[in-house]
Amino acid sequence: MNKISVIGTGYVGLVTGVCLSDFGLNVLCMDNNIEKIEKLKQGIIPIYEPGLDVIVERNITNHRLEFTTEMKRAVEESDVIFIAVGTPPVEDGSADLQYVEAVARDIARYMNGYKVIVDKSTVPVGTGQRVKEWVREELAKRNVAYEFDVVSNPEFLREGSAVHDFTHPDRVVIGAESPKALDLMKQVYRVLYLNETPFIETTIETAELIKYASNAFLAMKITFINEIANLCEKVGANVQDVAKAMGRDGRISPKFLHPGPGYGGSCFPKDTLALAKIGREYGSPVTLVEQTVRANDSQKRLMVAKIMEGLGSLVDKQLAILGLAFKPNTDDMRESPALVIINELAKQGAKFKVFDPKAMEEAKWRLKNLEDRITYCQNEYEAIKGSDALVILTEWNQFRSLNLPRVKDLLKEPYFFDLRNIYKRDMMEKAGFYYFGVGQGKRDEWTEGQQQVAATKE
Ligand code: NAD
Repeated sequence: MNKISVIGTGYVGLVTGVCLSDFGLNVLCMDNNIEKIEKLKQGIIPIYEPGLDVIVERNITNHRLEFTTEMKRAVEESDVIFIAVGTPPVEDGSADLQYVEAVARDIARYMNGYKVIVDKSTVPVGTGQRVKEWVREELAKRNVAYEFDVVSNPEFLREGSAVHDFTHPDRVVIGAESPKALDLMKQVYRVLYLNETPFIETTIETAELIKYASNAFLAMKITFINEIANLCEKVGANVQDVAKAMGRDGRISPKFLHPGPGYGGSCFPKDTLALAKIGREYGSPVTLVEQTVRANDSQKRLMVAKIMEGLGSLVDKQLAILGLAFKPNTDDMRESPALVIINELAKQGAKFKVFDPKAMEEAKWRLKNLEDRITYCQNEYEAIKGSDALVILTEWNQFRSLNLPRVKDLLKEPYFFDLRNIYKRDMMEKAGFYYFGVGQGKRDEWTEGQQQVAATKE
């Protein structure tokens, strides 16, 4: 096989290209962002993804991995071309396919023989067929009739553990219509075939739907435990025990049963919206997913209400915010619950001292509207110092083992909002905090807990 090209070097495209080169294939990664490609050529990784830098360096040195901004080269030199560009939502919730279309048409402009065009971006059902039409249109304009196949190969990696996920997937889904394309895809993933990774060979449409169904299911599971957590607060139950017991049931599994401030990130919010839109379009509404979207939105607002309930007026209150990324081990803040929560708290008059181990640069432009209200700090303790309350928004490991006596000393009042449930209420109350988790007992008991703390202080 000749080279493989990957178009788009974002979280998915870069990891795909880099890991395929590590499988021993010759890979050309292409992006139209000149700055990104210049950095990558020098071995500088434009995103934070643990472990990626070492593999990039190894494969550049071994001449298996190259970066370019030239689409012509990427198309002419390869047999298999992956499309891994973004598919962000447009206003009505559907996926914006303009980047996929631009790439498909560009590929056709430079085709010089048979190609397999692999869609790795998450796209609505029917996009594979549209890619075919776009390519055919461009080939007709050139008056040439090269053969090609379109394959759907959705990606399931998680940011933060992307390298491991790509190289040890639970399954590889390949939606293809020709044995020739399928055979080439098997060569691409030869290493995984040898490792006995399950392969699901299916139609293009089924592969496209598998991705949305998987993400929507996970988003629904998170939302389910969030709603159970909210109920726990009313009835005086502890969601951590509920989730632990549920997770012991093999049919349920303990994963994605961690309550918090709502899901975020570059995938779940847009993919749930897109699936709901597809369902409506085809007259087969996916009502559970529609409700998941609504409940997730309200979960973020419930977190704001929880903080206001605990602190009273937020006018001129200074909040120490720990964590901005949508989850740990990434610098990605796309749709991070932190964005909604901080903006809503700001509307109530709050000011912020913030710290995130990796997302500070991204936060500076995403929260630019609040620059006069936010102080960016060097570490967690600087953020906590002199603040009226501490709010944990992302469960980075380093926030799991805070020096609690020091935190208590540095805070003006020991208000501790743990929106990721990384501490236990009993322990925190014993340590003298006014502790607010998610779903850890009755709300009206908080007042009692606070009174106990106040009594100890006297
Ligand atoms: P991203 O925004 O990080 O990267 C997209 C890249 O494509 C950017 O570098 C951009 O410059 C480049 N690009 C856009 N138009 C281009 C063009 N015409 N030519 C060349 N390059 C172009 O996006 P991402 O997070 O990597 O997501 C890509 C796709 O993968 C999306 O459909 C997403 O839903 C899906 N996906 C993402 C994840 C994830 O965890 N991020 C996981 C699974 C699937």
